[in-house]
Amino acid sequence: MRLLVGTTNPGKLAEIQAHLGNLPIHIVPLGHLATWPEVAEDGRSFEENALKKARALADFSGMPTLADDSGLEVDALGGAPGIHSARYSGEDANDARNNEKLLQALAGLPQEKRTARFVCVLALCLPDSRQRREWLFRGECEGWIAFAPKGGNGFGYDPLFFYPPFGKTFGEVDRETKGRVSHRGKALRRLVESLPMLLPLLRQP
Ligand code: IMP
Repeated sequence: MRLLVGTTNPGKLAEIQAHLGNLPIHIVPLGHLATWPEVAEDGRSFEENALKKARALADFSGMPTLADDSGLEVDALGGAPGIHSARYSGEDANDARNNEKLLQALAGLPQEKRTARFVCVLALCLPDSRQRREWLFRGECEGWIAFAPKGGNGFGYDPLFFYPPFGKTFGEVDRETKGRVSHRGKALRRLVESLPMLLPLLRQP
C-alpha cells in the first residue's frame, strides 16, 4: 500500500517515517514526485490546513495521502504563532529567525508566563477518484519557552521548547525520545491505532 506523505520538511518526514516505517506501508515522500501543486495554507485552523493539503495532494497523485499541519501556541502571545509558525518572522522566515523573534516577543517574561504547546494535526485522505474519505488525528504537547536556544537536534522551535518531564529542550533529545511524548508522536500513534480499520480502505481497490 503506497502512502504519499505530503511534506518537504525533512524533520517532519523523519518523524513520520520513524513511526510508520515498520508497517506494511510504502511511504512516498512528496519530494519523490516530479512535480506537485503548491497548496496555500490559508485555513483558520490546523485541521483546515492539514485537510486542504491532504485533499489537493491526494487528488493530484491518486494516492492515499497524509499531510501534517503543526505549530507552536504560546499562551502569553494569545496562541501565536499558531498556524503561522512556519512564517512567524516574515516572508524570508527560517528556523533561526523565528526563534529569535519568539525570544524577543517574550523578553522579560518569567518562566511561569512562558507556557506553550506544540500542536500537530494529521489529515489522511483518499483521492476524490476513490470516493473521498478523510480522517483527522490531533496531538498536543505542553511545555514552556526557554530563555535561550539549547541543543542542535530536531527542527523549528525544538531548541526553545523546554519539556519539563525531561528537564531539557526538544533540541537536546534524540528523535526517538522526542517522538515518545511529542505532539506529532501522539497524533501518529492515534493514526497507527486506527490502521487495522483503515488499511482495507486505503489499499488499492
Ligand atoms: P507547517 O505545518 O508546514 O505550517 O509548519 C509548522 C511549523 O511549526 C514548522 O515550520 C516549525 O516552525 C513549527 N513546528 C511544528 N512542529 C514542530 C516540531 O516538532 N518541532 C519544532 N517546531 C515545530
